[in-house]
Amino acid sequence: MRNIVTIMAAAVLSFAGVTGEGHHADHPHWGYKGKEGPAHWGDIAPEFRLCKEGVNQSPIDMNRFIEAELPKLKVYYAGNARSVVNNGHTIKVETMGKDEVVVDGIPFNLKQFHFHTPSENKLKGEHFPMEAHFVHQSDGGDYLVIALMFVEGKHNKALQKMLNDLSPKVGEKHQLKEMFNPGELFPKKLDYYRFAGSFTTPPCTEGVRWIVIKQPVEASKEQIGLMHEIMGDNNRPVQPLKARCILK
Ligand SMILES: [Zn+2]
Repeated sequence: MRNIVTIMAAAVLSFAGVTGEGHHADHPHWGYKGKEGPAHWGDIAPEFRLCKEGVNQSPIDMNRFIEAELPKLKVYYAGNARSVVNNGHTIKVETMGKDEVVVDGIPFNLKQFHFHTPSENKLKGEHFPMEAHFVHQSDGGDYLVIALMFVEGKHNKALQKMLNDLSPKVGEKHQLKEMFNPGELFPKKLDYYRFAGSFTTPPCTEGVRWIVIKQPVEASKEQIGLMHEIMGDNNRPVQPLKARCILK
């Protein structure tokens, strides 16, 4: 009986992981170092199997492209970032209201966004110092992640609204005193790369539409440094491209 309870608890948590990419620091444990690190994710729990057996895994090194006439990215964000938490895997911001992106004629609604230091996806072999993932889901249950790369430069005002209420303590979620439209983080030009991939955290679910905005945005060295101090290196190593194409 005890086993059944344990398995059910794991299943519930893995579902939470699917909807909230990196949502829970609880059972089953995974991390970025040692025996709980990315090389072992596929062996930690049966429901993490795709982390080692998947063939469309993320992140990737974007180093081989196909020229395409990609349609203009339509971002209709009308909601707000409302809370911030260090969940032990990432700094995650929860949103409220209607933040929609339409891709392939399908509306996807923003669920949350979070950060990785350094970047998870690479461009021609190079990391960026930080990457943000805007996780969207369609009514049909499909996922779309928009990735935004950060470079060191000017102080980032929108990012600071989040940092002002960020506690470094794991699990200590704070409401934002100054809520902001998540689109404030985006650059003006929304040209992008596109490919198919997965979540970059267990259970490494595949069938995720990935869009990486080409133009990086700036944040100060102090801002990126603080986030790196809190999260540590939370980037999964790049995964084989296999049969995939990267459209640009
Ligand atoms: Zn992520």
